[in-house]
Amino acid sequence: MEIYVAENAGFCFGVKRAVKMAFDAAESYQGEVHSLGPLIHNPQVVDRLAEKGVQKVERLNQIEGGVVILRSHGVSSPQVVQDAEAQGLHIIDATCPFVTNAQRYAKQLVDEGYQVVMVGDRNHPESQSVLGHAGGEILVTEDFDEIKQMLNRFTRKRLGIISQTTQTYGKFSEIVVKCLQICEEVKIFNTICYATEDRQTEAQSLSETVEVMVVVGGKNSANTTHLADICREKGVRVYHVETAQEIDRHWFEGVQKTGVTAGASTPDWIIQEVISYLKTV
Ligand code: SF4
Repeated sequence: MEIYVAENAGFCFGVKRAVKMAFDAAESYQGEVHSLGPLIHNPQVVDRLAEKGVQKVERLNQIEGGVVILRSHGVSSPQVVQDAEAQGLHIIDATCPFVTNAQRYAKQLVDEGYQVVMVGDRNHPESQSVLGHAGGEILVTEDFDEIKQMLNRFTRKRLGIISQTTQTYGKFSEIVVKCLQICEEVKIFNTICYATEDRQTEAQSLSETVEVMVVVGGKNSANTTHLADICREKGVRVYHVETAQEIDRHWFEGVQKTGVTAGASTPDWIIQEVISYLKTV
Protein backbone atom coordinates (compact mmCIF):
# COMPACT_ATOMS: atom_id res chain seq x y z
CA MET A 1 0.00 0.00 0.00
CA GLU A 2 1.29 3.44 -0.90
CA ILE A 3 1.17 6.04 1.89
CA TYR A 4 1.00 9.76 1.19
CA VAL A 5 1.55 12.18 4.06
CA ALA A 6 0.37 15.80 3.90
CA GLU A 7 3.29 18.19 3.92
CA ASN A 8 1.97 20.37 6.73
CA ALA A 9 0.50 17.64 8.96
CA GLY A 10 0.83 18.25 12.69
CA PHE A 11 1.87 21.07 14.99
CA CYS A 12 1.12 24.56 13.76
CA PHE A 13 3.03 27.66 14.73
CA GLY A 14 0.72 28.51 17.68
CA VAL A 15 0.78 25.02 19.18
CA LYS A 16 4.53 24.60 18.69
CA ARG A 17 5.03 27.90 20.49
CA ALA A 18 2.70 26.99 23.38
CA VAL A 19 4.21 23.53 23.87
CA LYS A 20 7.76 24.91 23.84
CA MET A 21 6.78 27.57 26.39
CA ALA A 22 5.29 24.88 28.63
CA PHE A 23 8.27 22.50 28.43
CA ASP A 24 10.68 25.42 29.04
CA ALA A 25 8.61 26.50 32.05
CA ALA A 26 8.57 22.94 33.41
CA GLU A 27 12.35 22.96 33.34
CA SER A 28 12.82 26.44 34.81
CA TYR A 29 10.16 26.33 37.55
CA GLN A 30 10.12 22.69 38.58
CA GLY A 31 6.97 21.50 40.32
CA GLU A 32 5.28 24.89 40.29
CA VAL A 33 3.82 25.00 36.78
CA HIS A 34 0.12 24.85 35.99
CA SER A 35 -1.85 25.19 32.80
CA LEU A 36 -5.28 26.73 33.01
CA GLY A 37 -7.29 24.12 31.10
CA PRO A 38 -5.53 21.73 28.72
CA LEU A 39 -2.63 23.57 27.04
CA ILE A 40 -3.68 22.26 23.62
CA HIS A 41 -6.39 19.89 22.38
CA ASN A 42 -4.32 16.75 22.35
CA PRO A 43 -4.62 14.38 25.33
CA GLN A 44 -1.29 12.63 24.64
CA VAL A 45 0.65 15.92 24.72
CA VAL A 46 -1.20 17.02 27.86
CA ASP A 47 -0.21 13.68 29.50
CA ARG A 48 3.43 14.14 28.48
CA LEU A 49 3.42 17.65 29.95
CA ALA A 50 1.94 16.26 33.16
CA GLU A 51 4.84 13.77 33.35
CA LYS A 52 7.18 16.77 33.18
CA GLY A 53 5.30 18.44 36.03
CA VAL A 54 2.89 20.76 34.21
CA GLN A 55 -0.34 20.27 36.10
CA LYS A 56 -3.66 21.03 34.45
CA VAL A 57 -6.17 22.93 36.58
CA GLU A 58 -9.63 24.18 35.65
CA ARG A 59 -9.75 27.22 37.95
CA LEU A 60 -7.23 29.69 39.32
CA ASN A 61 -8.30 28.98 42.90
CA GLN A 62 -6.84 25.48 42.52
CA ILE A 63 -3.36 27.06 42.33
CA GLU A 64 -1.55 28.12 45.46
CA GLY A 65 1.44 29.81 43.86
CA GLY A 66 4.06 29.55 41.16
CA VAL A 67 3.45 29.72 37.43
CA VAL A 68 0.28 29.65 35.37
CA ILE A 69 0.39 29.10 31.62
CA LEU A 70 -2.47 30.54 29.59
CA ARG A 71 -3.32 28.06 26.86
CA SER A 72 -3.16 28.52 23.10
CA HIS A 73 -6.92 29.09 22.80
CA GLY A 74 -6.76 32.00 25.24
CA VAL A 75 -8.54 32.62 28.53
CA SER A 76 -12.24 33.27 28.91
CA SER A 77 -11.84 36.99 29.71
CA PRO A 78 -9.26 39.67 30.60
CA GLN A 79 -10.52 39.32 34.19
CA VAL A 80 -8.79 35.92 34.42
CA VAL A 81 -5.41 37.59 33.84
CA GLN A 82 -6.22 40.27 36.41
CA ASP A 83 -7.21 37.56 38.93
CA ALA A 84 -3.98 35.64 38.28
CA GLU A 85 -1.99 38.83 38.83
CA ALA A 86 -3.91 39.55 42.03
CA GLN A 87 -3.06 36.04 43.22
CA GLY A 88 0.62 36.83 42.68
CA LEU A 89 1.08 34.12 40.03
CA HIS A 90 3.77 34.35 37.40
CA ILE A 91 1.87 34.37 34.10
CA ILE A 92 3.16 32.80 30.89
CA ASP A 93 0.81 33.75 28.09
CA ALA A 94 0.79 31.04 25.40
CA THR A 95 -2.31 32.40 23.67
CA CYS A 96 -1.80 31.99 19.93
CA PRO A 97 -1.37 35.39 18.23
CA PHE A 98 -4.10 34.40 15.74
CA VAL A 99 -6.55 33.97 18.59
CA THR A 100 -5.47 37.34 20.02
CA ASN A 101 -6.20 38.80 16.59
CA ALA A 102 -9.70 37.34 16.54
CA GLN A 103 -10.30 38.75 20.05
CA ARG A 104 -9.16 42.19 18.87
CA TYR A 105 -11.32 42.22 15.74
CA ALA A 106 -14.36 41.07 17.73
CA LYS A 107 -13.88 43.97 20.13
CA GLN A 108 -13.38 46.42 17.27
CA LEU A 109 -16.66 45.34 15.63
CA VAL A 110 -18.53 45.60 18.93
CA ASP A 111 -17.03 49.05 19.55
CA GLU A 112 -18.02 50.18 16.06
CA GLY A 113 -21.63 49.24 16.81
CA TYR A 114 -22.06 46.23 14.52
CA GLN A 115 -24.16 43.23 15.42
CA VAL A 116 -21.41 40.63 15.56
CA VAL A 117 -21.31 37.01 14.48
CA MET A 118 -18.47 34.58 14.89
CA VAL A 119 -18.82 31.59 12.59
CA GLY A 120 -17.86 28.75 14.88
CA ASP A 121 -18.74 26.45 17.73
CA ARG A 122 -19.93 28.41 20.77
CA ASN A 123 -18.75 25.72 23.21
CA HIS A 124 -15.17 25.76 21.99
CA PRO A 125 -12.70 27.44 24.41
CA GLU A 126 -11.44 29.74 21.65
CA SER A 127 -14.98 31.04 21.04
CA GLN A 128 -15.39 31.54 24.77
CA SER A 129 -12.17 33.55 24.89
CA VAL A 130 -13.21 35.72 21.94
CA LEU A 131 -16.63 36.29 23.56
CA GLY A 132 -15.00 37.20 26.85
CA HIS A 133 -12.66 39.75 25.26
CA ALA A 134 -15.19 41.40 22.94
CA GLY A 135 -16.85 43.40 25.70
CA GLY A 136 -20.30 43.05 24.14
CA GLU A 137 -22.83 40.68 22.66
CA ILE A 138 -21.62 38.24 20.00
CA LEU A 139 -23.51 35.38 18.42
CA VAL A 140 -21.34 32.32 17.85
CA THR A 141 -22.98 29.94 15.43
CA GLU A 142 -22.64 27.99 12.21
CA ASP A 143 -26.38 28.20 11.57
CA PHE A 144 -27.56 30.96 9.23
CA ASP A 145 -31.14 30.78 10.58
CA GLU A 146 -29.88 31.83 14.01
CA ILE A 147 -28.15 34.83 12.45
CA LYS A 148 -31.34 35.77 10.60
CA GLN A 149 -33.35 35.52 13.81
CA MET A 150 -30.85 37.70 15.67
CA LEU A 151 -30.90 40.32 12.91
CA ASN A 152 -34.71 40.44 12.96
CA ARG A 153 -34.42 42.38 16.22
CA PHE A 154 -32.74 45.29 14.41
CA THR A 155 -34.15 47.66 11.80
CA ARG A 156 -30.70 48.60 10.47
CA LYS A 157 -28.86 45.42 9.68
CA ARG A 158 -25.16 46.21 10.13
CA LEU A 159 -23.33 42.97 10.61
CA GLY A 160 -19.73 42.29 11.60
CA ILE A 161 -18.46 38.79 10.84
CA ILE A 162 -15.39 36.96 12.05
CA SER A 163 -14.57 33.30 12.13
CA GLN A 164 -13.24 30.77 14.56
CA THR A 165 -9.57 30.39 13.54
CA THR A 166 -10.07 26.73 12.64
CA GLN A 167 -13.26 27.18 10.61
CA THR A 168 -13.43 25.78 7.08
CA TYR A 169 -13.40 28.33 4.25
CA GLY A 170 -16.42 26.56 2.77
CA LYS A 171 -18.61 27.16 5.84
CA PHE A 172 -17.29 30.69 6.42
CA SER A 173 -17.95 31.85 2.86
CA GLU A 174 -21.35 30.11 2.75
CA ILE A 175 -22.47 32.13 5.80
CA VAL A 176 -20.90 35.37 4.50
CA VAL A 177 -22.67 35.09 1.12
CA LYS A 178 -26.06 34.46 2.81
CA CYS A 179 -25.55 37.41 5.16
CA LEU A 180 -24.71 39.72 2.26
CA GLN A 181 -28.17 39.00 0.87
CA ILE A 182 -30.04 40.26 3.94
CA CYS A 183 -27.87 43.06 5.37
CA GLU A 184 -27.42 46.73 4.53
CA GLU A 185 -23.81 46.63 5.61
CA VAL A 186 -21.41 43.78 6.30
CA LYS A 187 -17.88 44.12 7.64
CA ILE A 188 -15.81 40.95 7.50
CA PHE A 189 -12.51 40.05 9.08
CA ASN A 190 -10.99 36.82 7.86
CA THR A 191 -9.71 35.35 11.12
CA ILE A 192 -9.11 31.82 9.82
CA CYS A 193 -5.43 31.20 10.52
CA TYR A 194 -2.99 30.29 7.73
CA ALA A 195 -2.10 26.98 9.41
CA THR A 196 -5.73 25.94 9.15
CA GLU A 197 -5.95 27.08 5.56
CA ASP A 198 -2.78 25.16 4.54
CA ARG A 199 -3.91 21.98 6.22
CA GLN A 200 -7.41 22.16 4.74
CA THR A 201 -6.16 22.76 1.18
CA GLU A 202 -3.72 19.87 1.43
CA ALA A 203 -6.30 17.53 2.94
CA GLN A 204 -8.65 18.36 0.08
CA SER A 205 -6.16 17.64 -2.67
CA LEU A 206 -4.81 14.52 -0.97
CA SER A 207 -8.38 13.18 -0.64
CA GLU A 208 -8.75 13.39 -4.41
CA THR A 209 -5.85 11.02 -5.00
CA VAL A 210 -6.29 8.28 -2.35
CA GLU A 211 -8.94 5.73 -1.38
CA VAL A 212 -8.66 6.11 2.39
CA MET A 213 -7.66 9.08 4.56
CA VAL A 214 -6.36 8.66 8.09
CA VAL A 215 -6.76 11.90 10.04
CA VAL A 216 -4.72 11.92 13.23
CA GLY A 217 -5.49 14.11 16.22
CA GLY A 218 -7.49 14.71 19.38
CA LYS A 219 -11.19 13.89 19.15
CA ASN A 220 -11.68 17.18 21.04
CA SER A 221 -9.66 19.13 18.46
CA ALA A 222 -11.84 21.35 16.27
CA ASN A 223 -9.27 21.69 13.51
CA THR A 224 -8.70 17.91 13.33
CA THR A 225 -12.45 17.26 13.19
CA HIS A 226 -12.78 19.86 10.42
CA LEU A 227 -9.99 18.17 8.46
CA ALA A 228 -11.85 14.87 8.69
CA ASP A 229 -15.07 16.58 7.51
CA ILE A 230 -13.29 18.16 4.55
CA CYS A 231 -11.92 14.79 3.48
CA ARG A 232 -15.38 13.17 3.84
CA GLU A 233 -16.88 15.91 1.67
CA LYS A 234 -14.50 14.74 -1.06
CA GLY A 235 -16.14 11.31 -0.89
CA VAL A 236 -13.11 9.45 0.44
CA ARG A 237 -13.34 6.93 3.33
CA VAL A 238 -12.05 8.68 6.46
CA TYR A 239 -10.80 7.40 9.81
CA HIS A 240 -10.16 9.93 12.58
CA VAL A 241 -7.81 8.39 15.15
CA GLU A 242 -5.91 9.75 18.13
CA THR A 243 -3.17 7.12 18.09
CA ALA A 244 -1.86 4.21 16.02
CA GLN A 245 -3.44 1.78 18.51
CA GLU A 246 -6.91 2.70 17.24
CA ILE A 247 -6.18 1.63 13.68
CA ASP A 248 -7.69 -1.60 12.42
CA ARG A 249 -5.74 -3.24 9.59
CA HIS A 250 -9.01 -4.49 8.03
CA TRP A 251 -9.78 -0.89 7.04
CA PHE A 252 -7.13 -1.18 4.34
CA GLU A 253 -8.09 -4.50 2.71
CA GLY A 254 -7.79 -4.04 -1.05
CA VAL A 255 -6.67 -0.41 -0.63
CA GLN A 256 -3.79 0.74 -2.85
CA LYS A 257 -3.37 4.35 -1.71
CA THR A 258 -3.83 5.86 1.75
CA GLY A 259 -3.37 9.48 2.75
CA VAL A 260 -2.37 10.71 6.19
CA THR A 261 -2.92 14.12 7.64
CA ALA A 262 -3.03 15.48 11.16
CA GLY A 263 -4.52 18.40 13.01
CA ALA A 264 -2.50 21.36 14.18
CA SER A 265 -2.31 20.02 17.74
CA THR A 266 -1.03 16.54 16.82
CA PRO A 267 2.61 15.92 17.76
CA ASP A 268 5.07 14.48 15.29
CA TRP A 269 5.76 11.38 17.39
CA ILE A 270 2.12 10.25 17.06
CA ILE A 271 2.07 10.91 13.31
CA GLN A 272 5.26 8.86 12.93
CA GLU A 273 3.75 5.97 14.94
CA VAL A 274 0.71 6.00 12.65
CA ILE A 275 2.87 6.01 9.51
CA SER A 276 5.05 3.19 10.86
CA TYR A 277 1.97 1.11 11.63
CA LEU A 278 0.46 1.76 8.20
CA LYS A 279 3.67 0.53 6.59
CA THR A 280 3.09 -2.85 8.22
CA VAL A 281 -0.48 -3.20 6.89
S1 SF4 B 1 -4.48 26.40 14.56
FE1 SF4 B 1 -3.99 28.52 14.05
S2 SF4 B 1 -5.02 29.70 15.67
FE2 SF4 B 1 -4.92 27.61 16.41
S3 SF4 B 1 -3.03 27.55 17.58
FE3 SF4 B 1 -2.50 26.92 15.50
S4 SF4 B 1 -1.78 28.78 14.46
FE4 SF4 B 1 -2.91 29.39 16.31
